[in-house]
Amino acid sequence: MAEALPSPLIDGFGRRISYLRISVTDRCDLRCRYCMAEVMQFLPASRLMTIEEIGYIADAFIARGVRRIRLTGGEPLVRRGVTDLARTIGRHLGDGLDELTLTTNGTRLATESHALVDAGVRRINVSLDSLNADRFRHITRTGQLDKVLQGIDAAAAAGLRIKINMVALKGLNEDEIEPMLRWCAARGHDLTLIETMPLGDVEGDRTDHYLPLDQVRRTLESRFTLAPLAERTGGPARYYRVAELDAKIGFITPLTENFCAGCNRVRLTVEGQLYLCLGREDRIDLRAALQEGGRPALDAALDRAMAAKPLRHAFAIEDAAPAVSRHMSVTGG
Ligand code: SAM
Ligand code: SF4
Repeated sequence: MAEALPSPLIDGFGRRISYLRISVTDRCDLRCRYCMAEVMQFLPASRLMTIEEIGYIADAFIARGVRRIRLTGGEPLVRRGVTDLARTIGRHLGDGLDELTLTTNGTRLATESHALVDAGVRRINVSLDSLNADRFRHITRTGQLDKVLQGIDAAAAAGLRIKINMVALKGLNEDEIEPMLRWCAARGHDLTLIETMPLGDVEGDRTDHYLPLDQVRRTLESRFTLAPLAERTGGPARYYRVAELDAKIGFITPLTENFCAGCNRVRLTVEGQLYLCLGREDRIDLRAALQEGGRPALDAALDRAMAAKPLRHAFAIEDAAPAVSRHMSVTGG
C-alpha cells in the first residue's frame, strides 16, 4: 500500500500556506529608524536555534507543501552559517521547493553573493531607502551607502536578480521615489515601495513619517503610465509596469489596502516561534515541540498553527502604541 503523503498546510479560513519566511537572526549591522531603536537588546546566543535546527524545521515545512522560503532577519548575512543553511534548504529546489530567496540590507553582498548563487538563490530583495549618502546614513543611523551600492553591483554581477525595497517615508525620502524608480529601471532592478508599519518601539513617532502609498501611486500616475500586472511573487506586493521606463514597481500597502485575504505566509523567528501573522501575537513554539517530541510533535504543532492563524492583521497607523511590541527584525520582514 502506498504511504500516505503528509497533509498540506491549510488554515481555518481555507488559505493554503505555501510561503515561509525565516528570521535567521534578530541582529543587524544597521539601525534603520523605522525598524529599530538606536540601542537594541538582542537575544543571547543560548536562545537562538542552531543552523541545523532551522534546516530541520525548514525540511518539515517543505514536506508539508511550502514551496517558497525567504531568509531574512535582522540582517541574515550577519548570521554565521547562513550560507550553509541556504545550501541545506537549496537542495530541495526543483524537488518540492520552487524558490529560495533572501532579504538583505546589502552591506555584505560584495562577499556573499557567489555563495548564495551556489546555494540556488536566484533572486534577492535589497533594502535601499535613499541614494543620497547623508540621508542613507540618517535613515539607517550607521550605514555607508557606497558599501551597499557595491554589494548590489556584486550581486548583479554574480547573476542574482534584484528587487529594491524602499520604505516610503514622509519628509525623509518621498522626493527620491521617482529618482529611485529611474535608477532601478536603468539597472534592470525592480522596485517595491513599502508603507511603514507599527511594529515595535523605535524611539520616536513613526506616524511623523508615515506616507500612504495610494497617494504616492496617484502622483506617479500623473507622470507615468502604470499598467497593473496580474503577476504575484508569493508576497503581498501588487505590481505595475511603468510603460515609459520599461520598469516594474510594486506597492506593499498593509495600511491603505488590506491584503490579508490572500495570505499564504507564516514566519519563523530565530528562537523557533512560528508567528502566524506579522501584525498579531498568535504563535506556536516549534523549537519546543521539536525538542520534546521530534518530527511527530513538530507536525502536530504545525497543525495547531494552522488552526490558530488569524484572519487579518490589526495595524492602524493612528494608534499611539505599536500594533505588536516585537520589531520587524524579530519576526522577519
Ligand atoms: N535587514 C534586512 C533588510 O533590511 O532588508 C532584512 C530584514 S528587514 C526587517 C526586511 C524589510 O522590512 C526591509 O525591507 C525593511 O525596510 C522592512 N521594514 C523594517 N521595519 C519596517 C516597518 N516598521 N515597516 C515597514 N517595513 C519595515
Ligand atoms: Fe536592519 Fe533591515 Fe531593520 Fe534596517 S530594516 S535595521 S537593515 S533589519
